Amino acid sequence: KQAVLRSDLGPLLEKVGSGKESLSFMRKRIHRLAAQWAAAARRLDQRLRAHWREQKRILVHVGFLTEESGDLFSPKVLKGGPLGEMVQWADILSTLYILGHHLKISVSVKELQGFLGFPPGRGSCPLTGPFPFDLIYTDYHGLQQMKQHIGLSLKKHKCHIRVIDTFGTEPAYNHEEYATLHGYRTNWGYWNLNCKQYMTMFPHTPDNSFMGFVAEELNETEKLSIQRNKVNNMAVVYGKEASMWKGKEKFLTILHRYMDIHGTVYYETQRPPEVPAFVKNHGLLPQNELQQLLRKAKLFLGFGFPYEGPAPLEAIANGCIFLQPKFHPPHSSLNHDFFRGKPTSREVFSQHPYAEQYIGRPQVVTVDFNNSEEFETAIRDILKAKVEPFLPYEYTCEGMLERVNAYIQHQDFCHLRAQFPSANVSGSWPGNPPSPFIPLPNSNALIWAPNITMPPCWPPLTALRLLLAPDSHSCISTCQKMGLICEPAFFPFINNIEAISGLDIQCESLEMEMNHMFPAVAVESSECFLQKDPLLFSCAGFTAKHRRLCPCRDYLHGQVALCRDCV
Ligand code: UDP
Repeated sequence: KQAVLRSDLGPLLEKVGSGKESLSFMRKRIHRLAAQWAAAARRLDQRLRAHWREQKRILVHVGFLTEESGDLFSPKVLKGGPLGEMVQWADILSTLYILGHHLKISVSVKELQGFLGFPPGRGSCPLTGPFPFDLIYTDYHGLQQMKQHIGLSLKKHKCHIRVIDTFGTEPAYNHEEYATLHGYRTNWGYWNLNCKQYMTMFPHTPDNSFMGFVAEELNETEKLSIQRNKVNNMAVVYGKEASMWKGKEKFLTILHRYMDIHGTVYYETQRPPEVPAFVKNHGLLPQNELQQLLRKAKLFLGFGFPYEGPAPLEAIANGCIFLQPKFHPPHSSLNHDFFRGKPTSREVFSQHPYAEQYIGRPQVVTVDFNNSEEFETAIRDILKAKVEPFLPYEYTCEGMLERVNAYIQHQDFCHLRAQFPSANVSGSWPGNPPSPFIPLPNSNALIWAPNITMPPCWPPLTALRLLLAPDSHSCISTCQKMGLICEPAFFPFINNIEAISGLDIQCESLEMEMNHMFPAVAVESSECFLQKDPLLFSCAGFTAKHRRLCPCRDYLHGQVALCRDCV
Protein backbone atom coordinates (compact mmCIF):
# COMPACT_ATOMS: atom_id res chain seq x y z
CA LYS A 1 0.00 0.00 0.00
CA GLN A 2 1.16 3.50 -0.88
CA ALA A 3 1.98 5.85 2.02
CA VAL A 4 0.31 9.25 1.74
CA LEU A 5 1.77 12.29 3.52
CA ARG A 6 -0.48 13.64 6.26
CA SER A 7 -0.57 17.25 7.34
CA ASP A 8 -2.97 17.12 10.30
CA LEU A 9 -1.30 16.02 13.53
CA GLY A 10 -4.58 16.06 15.49
CA PRO A 11 -5.16 12.27 15.36
CA LEU A 12 -1.57 11.67 16.51
CA LEU A 13 -2.16 13.78 19.63
CA GLU A 14 -5.01 11.46 20.57
CA LYS A 15 -2.76 8.42 20.20
CA VAL A 16 -0.02 9.84 22.43
CA GLY A 17 -2.16 9.74 25.56
CA SER A 18 -1.56 11.62 28.78
CA GLY A 19 -1.36 10.96 32.48
CA LYS A 20 2.38 11.45 32.74
CA GLU A 21 4.29 14.72 32.64
CA SER A 22 6.56 13.26 29.95
CA LEU A 23 3.63 12.48 27.68
CA SER A 24 2.08 15.91 28.17
CA PHE A 25 5.44 17.50 27.41
CA MET A 26 5.53 15.53 24.16
CA ARG A 27 1.92 16.36 23.28
CA LYS A 28 2.53 20.07 23.88
CA ARG A 29 5.56 19.94 21.65
CA ILE A 30 3.77 18.09 18.84
CA HIS A 31 0.93 20.60 19.07
CA ARG A 32 3.24 23.62 19.17
CA LEU A 33 5.17 22.54 16.06
CA ALA A 34 2.11 21.23 14.15
CA ALA A 35 1.94 24.12 11.68
CA GLN A 36 5.66 23.86 10.97
CA TRP A 37 5.32 20.10 10.31
CA ALA A 38 2.33 20.65 8.05
CA ALA A 39 4.17 23.24 5.96
CA ALA A 40 7.16 20.92 5.62
CA ALA A 41 4.87 18.04 4.62
CA ARG A 42 3.43 20.15 1.80
CA ARG A 43 6.88 21.08 0.52
CA LEU A 44 8.13 17.50 0.68
CA ASP A 45 5.00 16.25 -1.04
CA GLN A 46 5.96 18.23 -4.16
CA ARG A 47 9.32 16.49 -4.23
CA LEU A 48 8.25 12.97 -3.34
CA ARG A 49 5.16 12.77 -5.48
CA ALA A 50 6.91 10.93 -8.28
CA HIS A 51 8.22 8.20 -5.93
CA TRP A 52 6.21 5.24 -4.79
CA ARG A 53 6.47 4.97 -1.02
CA GLU A 54 5.47 1.84 0.78
CA GLN A 55 3.23 2.28 3.82
CA LYS A 56 4.82 0.44 6.75
CA ARG A 57 3.27 -0.95 9.91
CA ILE A 58 5.28 0.72 12.66
CA LEU A 59 5.36 0.20 16.40
CA VAL A 60 6.95 2.85 18.60
CA HIS A 61 7.77 1.46 22.04
CA VAL A 62 9.29 4.13 24.27
CA GLY A 63 11.11 1.92 26.75
CA PHE A 64 12.52 4.58 29.08
CA LEU A 65 9.02 5.88 29.82
CA THR A 66 7.66 2.51 30.94
CA GLU A 67 7.02 1.84 34.62
CA GLU A 68 8.87 -1.44 34.12
CA SER A 69 12.12 0.42 33.41
CA GLY A 70 11.60 2.60 36.48
CA ASP A 71 10.54 5.65 34.44
CA LEU A 72 13.10 7.93 36.00
CA PHE A 73 12.42 10.76 33.57
CA SER A 74 8.71 11.55 33.88
CA PRO A 75 8.86 12.78 37.51
CA LYS A 76 11.69 15.16 36.55
CA VAL A 77 10.08 16.82 33.53
CA LEU A 78 9.04 19.84 35.58
CA LYS A 79 12.11 19.74 37.81
CA GLY A 80 15.00 20.40 35.47
CA GLY A 81 15.57 16.78 34.43
CA PRO A 82 16.65 15.81 30.92
CA LEU A 83 14.18 16.70 28.18
CA GLY A 84 16.25 16.00 25.07
CA GLU A 85 14.98 12.43 24.73
CA MET A 86 11.37 13.58 24.94
CA VAL A 87 12.00 16.27 22.37
CA GLN A 88 13.38 13.58 20.07
CA TRP A 89 10.61 11.01 20.63
CA ALA A 90 7.95 13.67 20.06
CA ASP A 91 9.62 14.56 16.76
CA ILE A 92 10.02 10.92 15.74
CA LEU A 93 6.30 10.35 16.30
CA SER A 94 5.45 13.46 14.27
CA THR A 95 7.77 12.35 11.47
CA LEU A 96 6.44 8.80 11.21
CA TYR A 97 2.86 10.03 11.34
CA ILE A 98 3.35 12.78 8.74
CA LEU A 99 5.09 10.31 6.43
CA GLY A 100 1.81 8.41 6.32
CA HIS A 101 2.68 5.15 8.06
CA HIS A 102 0.46 2.94 10.13
CA LEU A 103 1.46 3.80 13.69
CA LYS A 104 1.02 2.14 17.09
CA ILE A 105 2.48 3.68 20.23
CA SER A 106 3.32 1.84 23.42
CA VAL A 107 4.64 3.14 26.75
CA SER A 108 4.16 0.01 28.84
CA VAL A 109 5.13 -3.63 28.63
CA LYS A 110 1.45 -4.56 28.64
CA GLU A 111 0.75 -2.47 25.56
CA LEU A 112 3.87 -3.91 23.94
CA GLN A 113 2.66 -7.46 24.52
CA GLY A 114 -0.78 -6.59 23.23
CA PHE A 115 0.56 -5.10 20.00
CA LEU A 116 2.87 -8.04 19.45
CA GLY A 117 0.00 -10.48 19.75
CA PHE A 118 0.51 -12.00 23.18
CA PRO A 119 -2.71 -13.23 24.68
CA PRO A 120 -3.25 -11.34 27.95
CA GLY A 121 -2.40 -13.25 31.12
CA ARG A 122 -0.47 -15.96 29.31
CA GLY A 123 3.01 -14.69 30.08
CA SER A 124 5.58 -14.87 27.34
CA CYS A 125 4.03 -17.34 24.94
CA PRO A 126 5.96 -17.43 21.71
CA LEU A 127 4.56 -15.36 18.92
CA THR A 128 2.65 -17.33 16.32
CA GLY A 129 1.66 -16.17 12.89
CA PRO A 130 3.38 -13.48 10.81
CA PHE A 131 5.21 -10.69 12.59
CA PRO A 132 2.73 -7.81 12.89
CA PHE A 133 5.16 -4.92 12.24
CA ASP A 134 7.62 -3.93 9.55
CA LEU A 135 9.48 -1.62 11.90
CA ILE A 136 9.80 -1.17 15.65
CA TYR A 137 11.36 1.98 17.03
CA THR A 138 12.47 1.57 20.61
CA ASP A 139 15.44 2.23 22.93
CA TYR A 140 17.81 0.08 24.96
CA HIS A 141 15.23 -0.33 27.75
CA GLY A 142 12.61 -1.41 25.22
CA LEU A 143 15.05 -3.83 23.62
CA GLN A 144 15.62 -5.48 26.97
CA GLN A 145 11.88 -5.71 27.53
CA MET A 146 11.37 -7.28 24.14
CA LYS A 147 14.02 -9.85 24.84
CA GLN A 148 12.28 -10.75 28.09
CA HIS A 149 8.82 -10.79 26.62
CA ILE A 150 9.29 -12.04 23.07
CA GLY A 151 12.09 -14.29 24.13
CA LEU A 152 13.85 -16.27 21.47
CA SER A 153 11.89 -14.98 18.52
CA LEU A 154 13.78 -11.69 18.88
CA LYS A 155 16.59 -13.36 16.96
CA LYS A 156 14.34 -13.94 14.01
CA HIS A 157 12.70 -10.53 14.10
CA LYS A 158 15.47 -8.23 15.18
CA CYS A 159 16.08 -6.91 11.67
CA HIS A 160 12.85 -4.90 12.09
CA ILE A 161 14.13 -3.08 15.15
CA ARG A 162 15.55 0.45 15.33
CA VAL A 163 17.11 1.59 18.58
CA ILE A 164 17.05 5.28 19.48
CA ASP A 165 20.41 5.73 21.11
CA THR A 166 21.47 9.33 21.82
CA PHE A 167 25.22 8.85 22.16
CA GLY A 168 25.63 5.94 19.75
CA THR A 169 26.93 2.37 19.81
CA GLU A 170 30.14 1.38 18.10
CA PRO A 171 30.52 -2.03 16.41
CA ALA A 172 33.18 -3.34 18.82
CA TYR A 173 30.69 -2.90 21.68
CA ASN A 174 27.71 -4.24 19.76
CA HIS A 175 29.29 -7.59 18.89
CA GLU A 176 28.69 -9.78 21.92
CA GLU A 177 31.51 -12.27 21.51
CA TYR A 178 34.06 -9.70 20.40
CA ALA A 179 33.11 -7.24 23.15
CA THR A 180 33.49 -9.96 25.74
CA LEU A 181 36.84 -11.16 24.45
CA HIS A 182 38.38 -7.73 23.96
CA GLY A 183 37.12 -5.71 26.90
CA TYR A 184 34.34 -3.78 25.17
CA ARG A 185 31.62 -5.01 27.48
CA THR A 186 29.34 -2.31 28.88
CA ASN A 187 25.94 -1.92 30.48
CA TRP A 188 24.30 -1.42 27.12
CA GLY A 189 26.01 -2.98 24.11
CA TYR A 190 26.29 -6.54 22.84
CA TRP A 191 23.00 -6.89 20.97
CA ASN A 192 24.56 -8.07 17.69
CA LEU A 193 22.46 -5.73 15.61
CA ASN A 194 23.62 -4.12 12.40
CA CYS A 195 25.03 -0.90 13.86
CA LYS A 196 23.00 1.18 11.39
CA GLN A 197 19.96 0.03 13.39
CA TYR A 198 21.08 2.33 16.20
CA MET A 199 19.90 5.88 15.59
CA THR A 200 21.58 8.86 17.23
CA MET A 201 20.65 12.39 18.28
CA PHE A 202 23.47 14.03 16.31
CA PRO A 203 25.48 12.74 13.33
CA HIS A 204 28.52 11.87 15.44
CA THR A 205 28.91 8.13 14.80
CA PRO A 206 28.64 7.20 11.12
CA ASP A 207 28.49 3.52 12.10
CA ASN A 208 24.98 4.39 13.32
CA SER A 209 22.15 6.13 11.50
CA PHE A 210 21.55 9.76 12.34
CA MET A 211 17.94 10.25 13.51
CA GLY A 212 18.04 13.79 14.97
CA PHE A 213 15.09 15.99 15.97
CA VAL A 214 13.87 19.43 14.89
CA ALA A 215 14.17 22.99 16.11
CA GLU A 216 11.84 25.88 15.55
CA GLU A 217 12.09 27.48 12.11
CA LEU A 218 11.69 31.18 11.46
CA ASN A 219 10.37 32.89 8.36
CA GLU A 220 12.08 35.96 6.92
CA THR A 221 9.80 38.42 8.77
CA GLU A 222 10.46 36.71 12.09
CA LYS A 223 14.20 36.70 11.41
CA LEU A 224 14.17 40.44 10.77
CA SER A 225 12.11 41.20 13.84
CA ILE A 226 14.37 39.05 16.02
CA GLN A 227 17.43 40.87 14.76
CA ARG A 228 15.78 44.22 15.45
CA ASN A 229 14.77 43.26 18.98
CA LYS A 230 17.99 41.64 20.14
CA VAL A 231 19.29 42.95 23.44
CA ASN A 232 23.00 43.15 22.83
CA ASN A 233 24.10 42.71 26.43
CA MET A 234 21.77 39.88 27.40
CA ALA A 235 23.07 36.37 28.05
CA VAL A 236 21.19 33.16 28.88
CA VAL A 237 22.99 30.35 30.64
CA TYR A 238 22.54 26.73 29.43
CA GLY A 239 21.67 24.53 32.41
CA LYS A 240 18.29 23.92 33.98
CA GLU A 241 19.58 22.00 36.95
CA ALA A 242 21.36 23.83 39.79
CA SER A 243 24.19 21.26 39.89
CA MET A 244 25.27 22.34 36.40
CA TRP A 245 26.12 25.78 37.86
CA LYS A 246 28.37 24.48 40.57
CA GLY A 247 31.82 26.10 40.65
CA LYS A 248 31.06 28.52 37.80
CA GLU A 249 31.04 31.82 39.74
CA LYS A 250 34.36 32.78 38.22
CA PHE A 251 33.02 32.78 34.65
CA LEU A 252 29.74 34.33 35.69
CA THR A 253 31.57 37.17 37.42
CA ILE A 254 33.62 37.89 34.32
CA LEU A 255 30.55 37.68 32.10
CA HIS A 256 28.57 39.92 34.44
CA ARG A 257 31.03 42.76 33.80
CA TYR A 258 29.76 42.86 30.23
CA MET A 259 26.26 41.41 30.19
CA ASP A 260 23.04 40.85 32.12
CA ILE A 261 22.75 37.17 32.87
CA HIS A 262 19.55 35.15 32.76
CA GLY A 263 19.02 31.55 33.83
CA THR A 264 16.24 28.97 33.66
CA VAL A 265 17.18 26.89 36.68
CA TYR A 266 14.55 24.80 38.37
CA TYR A 267 13.89 25.61 42.03
CA GLU A 268 11.23 24.71 44.55
CA THR A 269 10.94 27.54 47.03
CA GLN A 270 14.37 29.04 47.46
CA ARG A 271 16.88 30.33 45.03
CA PRO A 272 19.48 27.61 44.41
CA PRO A 273 22.74 28.65 46.15
CA GLU A 274 24.74 27.71 43.02
CA VAL A 275 23.11 30.57 41.12
CA PRO A 276 24.71 33.94 42.04
CA ALA A 277 22.45 36.78 43.15
CA PHE A 278 23.22 38.91 40.08
CA VAL A 279 21.67 36.27 37.79
CA LYS A 280 18.03 36.76 36.88
CA ASN A 281 16.61 33.28 37.30
CA HIS A 282 13.29 32.61 35.55
CA GLY A 283 12.93 29.10 36.90
CA LEU A 284 12.38 26.25 34.47
CA LEU A 285 10.37 27.64 31.55
CA PRO A 286 7.91 25.96 29.21
CA GLN A 287 9.56 25.44 25.80
CA ASN A 288 7.71 28.31 24.10
CA GLU A 289 8.73 30.78 26.83
CA LEU A 290 12.34 29.66 26.62
CA GLN A 291 12.18 30.41 22.87
CA GLN A 292 10.97 33.94 23.64
CA LEU A 293 13.87 34.48 26.01
CA LEU A 294 16.36 33.18 23.41
CA ARG A 295 14.91 35.54 20.82
CA LYS A 296 15.99 38.50 22.90
CA ALA A 297 19.36 37.19 24.08
CA LYS A 298 22.64 37.71 22.27
CA LEU A 299 24.62 34.98 24.00
CA PHE A 300 23.84 31.42 25.09
CA LEU A 301 26.53 30.20 27.45
CA GLY A 302 27.38 26.52 28.00
CA PHE A 303 29.31 25.32 31.05
CA GLY A 304 30.32 21.93 29.64
CA PHE A 305 27.26 19.98 30.68
CA PRO A 306 24.78 18.71 29.44
CA TYR A 307 26.56 17.24 26.45
CA GLU A 308 25.05 17.43 22.97
CA GLY A 309 21.53 18.57 23.87
CA PRO A 310 18.93 20.30 21.69
CA ALA A 311 19.07 23.66 23.48
CA PRO A 312 22.15 25.12 21.69
CA LEU A 313 20.54 24.47 18.29
CA GLU A 314 17.39 26.24 19.50
CA ALA A 315 19.47 29.17 20.71
CA ILE A 316 21.35 29.46 17.41
CA ALA A 317 18.07 29.13 15.48
CA ASN A 318 16.86 32.12 17.48
CA GLY A 319 19.85 34.25 16.61
CA CYS A 320 22.06 33.68 19.69
CA ILE A 321 25.77 33.02 19.66
CA PHE A 322 26.64 29.83 21.55
CA LEU A 323 29.80 30.08 23.65
CA GLN A 324 31.06 26.73 24.94
CA PRO A 325 34.16 25.13 26.47
CA LYS A 326 36.71 23.12 24.55
CA PHE A 327 37.66 19.86 26.31
CA HIS A 328 41.34 19.14 26.59
CA PRO A 329 41.86 16.23 27.04
CA PRO A 330 38.63 15.15 25.34
CA HIS A 331 35.90 13.53 27.44
CA SER A 332 35.10 9.88 26.79
CA SER A 333 34.00 6.65 28.46
CA LEU A 334 37.60 6.26 29.64
CA ASN A 335 37.80 9.43 31.70
CA HIS A 336 34.31 10.76 32.42
CA ASP A 337 31.56 9.34 34.56
CA PHE A 338 28.81 10.45 32.25
CA PHE A 339 30.17 8.40 29.35
CA ARG A 340 31.43 5.51 31.45
CA GLY A 341 29.59 2.31 30.54
CA LYS A 342 28.25 3.77 27.31
CA PRO A 343 29.00 1.55 24.30
CA THR A 344 31.36 3.96 22.57
CA SER A 345 35.01 5.05 22.65
CA ARG A 346 34.19 8.35 20.98
CA GLU A 347 36.15 11.33 22.21
CA VAL A 348 34.16 14.50 22.77
CA PHE A 349 36.25 17.63 22.20
CA SER A 350 33.72 20.23 23.34
CA GLN A 351 30.34 20.40 25.03
CA HIS A 352 28.56 20.31 21.68
CA PRO A 353 30.78 18.85 18.94
CA TYR A 354 28.06 19.14 16.30
CA ALA A 355 27.73 22.88 16.92
CA GLU A 356 31.50 23.23 16.74
CA GLN A 357 32.06 21.13 13.61
CA TYR A 358 28.97 21.66 11.51
CA ILE A 359 28.06 25.24 12.46
CA GLY A 360 31.17 26.96 13.87
CA ARG A 361 31.90 30.65 13.89
CA PRO A 362 30.34 33.17 13.99
CA GLN A 363 27.35 31.37 15.58
CA VAL A 364 29.42 28.97 17.68
CA VAL A 365 32.49 29.99 19.64
CA THR A 366 34.49 27.21 21.31
CA VAL A 367 37.27 28.30 23.66
CA ASP A 368 39.38 27.06 26.54
CA PHE A 369 37.50 28.17 29.67
CA ASN A 370 40.55 27.48 31.85
CA ASN A 371 42.09 30.49 30.24
CA SER A 372 40.15 33.47 31.64
CA GLU A 373 41.69 35.84 29.13
CA GLU A 374 40.51 33.72 26.23
CA PHE A 375 37.06 33.56 27.80
CA GLU A 376 36.90 37.32 28.27
CA THR A 377 38.15 38.04 24.75
CA ALA A 378 35.46 35.74 23.39
CA ILE A 379 32.80 37.71 25.23
CA ARG A 380 34.11 41.03 23.90
CA ASP A 381 34.14 39.63 20.35
CA ILE A 382 30.61 38.34 20.77
CA LEU A 383 29.37 41.76 21.86
CA LYS A 384 30.69 43.19 18.59
CA ALA A 385 29.56 40.34 16.35
CA LYS A 386 26.42 40.36 14.22
CA VAL A 387 24.86 37.00 13.45
CA GLU A 388 21.71 35.80 11.75
CA PRO A 389 19.44 33.08 13.11
CA PHE A 390 20.63 29.80 11.64
CA LEU A 391 19.29 26.25 11.55
CA PRO A 392 21.00 23.47 9.57
CA TYR A 393 18.58 21.89 7.06
CA GLU A 394 18.89 18.47 8.73
CA TYR A 395 17.28 19.93 11.88
CA THR A 396 14.30 21.42 10.02
CA CYS A 397 11.05 19.45 9.74
CA GLU A 398 11.54 18.99 6.02
CA GLY A 399 15.11 17.76 6.54
CA MET A 400 14.05 15.25 9.17
CA LEU A 401 11.14 14.00 7.06
CA GLU A 402 13.40 13.61 4.03
CA ARG A 403 16.04 11.69 5.98
CA VAL A 404 13.72 9.37 7.88
CA ASN A 405 11.75 8.68 4.72
CA ALA A 406 14.97 7.64 2.96
CA TYR A 407 15.82 5.26 5.81
CA ILE A 408 12.35 3.74 5.86
CA GLN A 409 12.25 3.17 2.13
CA HIS A 410 15.85 2.01 1.64
CA GLN A 411 17.42 0.56 4.78
CA ASP A 412 16.83 -3.18 4.84
CA PHE A 413 18.51 -5.31 7.49
CA CYS A 414 16.33 -8.37 6.86
CA HIS A 415 17.72 -9.40 3.50
CA LEU A 416 21.46 -9.64 3.32
CA ARG A 417 22.61 -8.56 -0.07
CA ALA A 418 25.31 -10.35 -2.03
CA GLN A 419 28.83 -9.14 -1.43
CA PHE A 420 31.16 -8.52 -4.31
CA PRO A 421 33.35 -10.35 -5.01
CA SER A 422 33.33 -13.11 -2.46
CA ALA A 423 36.66 -12.64 -0.76
CA ASN A 424 39.08 -15.45 -1.38
CA VAL A 425 41.61 -15.91 1.38
CA SER A 426 43.69 -18.81 0.16
CA GLY A 427 46.73 -16.56 -0.20
CA SER A 428 46.78 -16.69 -3.98
CA TRP A 429 44.19 -15.38 -6.34
CA PRO A 430 44.10 -17.23 -9.61
CA GLY A 431 41.26 -16.28 -11.85
CA ASN A 432 40.38 -13.04 -10.11
CA PRO A 433 37.42 -11.29 -11.57
CA PRO A 434 38.41 -7.91 -13.04
CA SER A 435 38.90 -5.38 -10.27
CA PRO A 436 35.92 -3.08 -9.92
CA PHE A 437 38.09 -0.28 -8.53
CA ILE A 438 39.66 2.50 -10.59
CA PRO A 439 41.45 5.65 -9.44
CA LEU A 440 39.46 8.84 -9.23
CA PRO A 441 41.40 11.46 -11.24
CA ASN A 442 43.24 14.11 -9.17
CA SER A 443 42.76 12.33 -5.87
CA ASN A 444 44.04 9.35 -3.92
CA ALA A 445 40.61 7.74 -3.79
CA LEU A 446 39.33 4.78 -5.76
CA ILE A 447 35.82 4.58 -7.19
CA TRP A 448 33.70 1.77 -8.54
CA ALA A 449 34.37 1.42 -12.28
CA PRO A 450 31.25 2.41 -14.20
CA ASN A 451 31.71 -0.46 -16.67
CA ILE A 452 31.47 -3.11 -13.94
CA THR A 453 28.00 -4.06 -12.79
CA MET A 454 27.18 -2.40 -9.50
CA PRO A 455 25.65 -4.68 -6.91
CA PRO A 456 22.49 -3.25 -5.36
CA CYS A 457 23.24 -1.19 -2.29
CA TRP A 458 21.88 1.83 -0.46
CA PRO A 459 23.53 4.31 -0.49
CA PRO A 460 24.32 3.46 -4.13
CA LEU A 461 27.89 2.48 -4.94
CA THR A 462 28.25 5.45 -7.28
CA ALA A 463 28.95 7.41 -4.07
CA LEU A 464 31.83 5.16 -2.94
CA ARG A 465 35.27 6.73 -2.48
CA LEU A 466 37.76 4.18 -1.20
CA LEU A 467 40.66 5.63 0.81
CA LEU A 468 43.61 4.17 2.67
CA ALA A 469 43.88 5.66 6.16
CA PRO A 470 47.25 6.72 7.57
CA ASP A 471 48.26 4.66 10.59
CA SER A 472 46.61 5.70 13.86
CA HIS A 473 43.63 7.12 11.98
CA SER A 474 40.06 5.90 12.02
CA CYS A 475 37.89 5.83 8.94
CA ILE A 476 35.78 8.55 10.54
CA SER A 477 38.64 11.05 10.51
CA THR A 478 40.13 9.79 7.23
CA CYS A 479 36.90 10.40 5.32
CA GLN A 480 36.29 13.67 7.17
CA LYS A 481 39.65 15.08 6.09
CA MET A 482 38.61 14.66 2.46
CA GLY A 483 35.24 16.36 3.02
CA LEU A 484 33.50 12.97 2.94
CA ILE A 485 31.83 10.72 5.49
CA CYS A 486 32.50 7.08 6.32
CA GLU A 487 29.72 4.82 4.98
CA PRO A 488 29.66 1.40 6.67
CA ALA A 489 27.14 0.03 4.13
CA PHE A 490 30.05 -0.02 1.64
CA PHE A 491 32.37 -2.15 3.76
CA PRO A 492 31.23 -5.49 2.29
CA PHE A 493 32.26 -4.25 -1.15
CA ILE A 494 35.79 -3.21 -0.18
CA ASN A 495 36.57 -6.23 1.97
CA ASN A 496 38.52 -8.01 -0.75
CA ILE A 497 41.91 -8.31 -2.39
CA GLU A 498 40.81 -6.26 -5.40
CA ALA A 499 40.33 -3.25 -3.15
CA ILE A 500 43.74 -3.73 -1.53
CA SER A 501 45.59 -4.16 -4.81
CA GLY A 502 43.64 -1.25 -6.29
CA LEU A 503 45.34 0.87 -3.63
CA ASP A 504 48.72 -0.30 -5.00
CA ILE A 505 49.50 -2.59 -2.11
CA GLN A 506 51.21 -5.91 -2.70
CA CYS A 507 50.25 -8.40 -0.02
CA GLU A 508 52.73 -10.98 1.14
CA SER A 509 50.02 -12.73 3.04
CA LEU A 510 46.31 -12.32 3.39
CA GLU A 511 44.28 -13.34 6.39
CA MET A 512 40.72 -13.09 7.44
CA GLU A 513 40.12 -12.22 11.06
CA MET A 514 37.57 -10.83 13.47
CA ASN A 515 38.94 -7.39 14.22
CA HIS A 516 37.04 -4.13 14.02
CA MET A 517 40.00 -2.41 12.33
CA PHE A 518 39.85 -4.72 9.30
CA PRO A 519 40.08 -4.62 6.30
CA ALA A 520 43.55 -3.14 6.79
CA VAL A 521 47.22 -3.58 5.97
CA ALA A 522 50.02 -3.85 8.50
CA VAL A 523 52.26 -0.78 8.68
CA GLU A 524 55.56 -2.60 9.17
CA SER A 525 55.11 -5.61 6.91
CA SER A 526 53.13 -6.49 3.84
CA GLU A 527 50.55 -8.49 5.68
CA CYS A 528 46.99 -7.84 4.61
CA PHE A 529 43.87 -8.51 6.60
CA LEU A 530 40.23 -8.86 5.68
CA GLN A 531 37.22 -8.78 7.97
CA LYS A 532 35.69 -12.11 8.83
CA ASP A 533 32.49 -10.94 10.50
CA PRO A 534 30.34 -8.29 8.76
CA LEU A 535 28.97 -7.18 12.15
CA LEU A 536 32.43 -5.87 12.99
CA PHE A 537 32.78 -3.51 10.05
CA SER A 538 33.51 -0.23 11.82
CA CYS A 539 34.16 3.37 10.88
CA ALA A 540 35.40 3.99 14.43
CA GLY A 541 38.70 2.63 15.66
CA PHE A 542 42.39 3.15 14.94
CA THR A 543 45.71 1.52 15.78
CA ALA A 544 49.32 2.41 15.20
CA LYS A 545 49.90 -1.04 13.67
CA HIS A 546 47.51 -0.88 10.74
CA ARG A 547 46.39 1.30 7.91
CA ARG A 548 42.68 0.82 7.42
CA LEU A 549 40.69 0.61 4.18
CA CYS A 550 37.96 3.22 4.41
CA PRO A 551 34.68 3.35 2.50
CA CYS A 552 33.76 7.03 2.24
CA ARG A 553 30.96 8.82 0.44
CA ASP A 554 29.86 12.37 -0.34
CA TYR A 555 27.07 14.05 1.61
CA LEU A 556 24.56 16.78 0.94
CA HIS A 557 25.26 20.18 2.39
CA GLY A 558 23.10 20.38 5.52
CA GLN A 559 21.98 16.74 5.28
CA VAL A 560 24.98 14.59 6.11
CA ALA A 561 22.92 11.37 6.28
CA LEU A 562 22.27 11.48 2.54
CA CYS A 563 24.50 11.52 -0.53
CA ARG A 564 23.81 13.14 -3.88
CA ASP A 565 22.67 9.84 -5.41
CA CYS A 566 20.84 8.74 -2.21
CA VAL A 567 17.63 10.67 -2.87
N1 UDP B 1 14.02 23.51 27.98
C1 UDP B 1 12.80 24.00 28.44
N2 UDP B 1 12.80 24.93 29.45
C2 UDP B 1 13.94 25.39 30.01
C3 UDP B 1 15.18 24.88 29.54
C4 UDP B 1 15.18 23.94 28.51
O1 UDP B 1 11.76 23.62 27.93
O2 UDP B 1 13.85 26.22 30.91
C5 UDP B 1 14.00 22.54 26.85
C6 UDP B 1 14.71 23.07 25.64
O3 UDP B 1 13.82 23.78 24.84
C7 UDP B 1 15.23 21.79 24.96
C8 UDP B 1 15.08 20.72 26.01
O4 UDP B 1 14.72 21.39 27.20
O5 UDP B 1 14.44 21.45 23.84
C9 UDP B 1 16.33 19.90 26.23
O6 UDP B 1 17.34 20.73 26.56
P1 UDP B 1 18.86 20.39 26.83
O7 UDP B 1 19.67 20.84 25.66
O8 UDP B 1 19.17 20.96 28.15
O9 UDP B 1 19.02 18.80 26.83
P2 UDP B 1 18.75 17.70 27.95
O10 UDP B 1 19.98 17.64 28.79
O11 UDP B 1 17.55 18.13 28.70
O12 UDP B 1 18.49 16.44 27.19
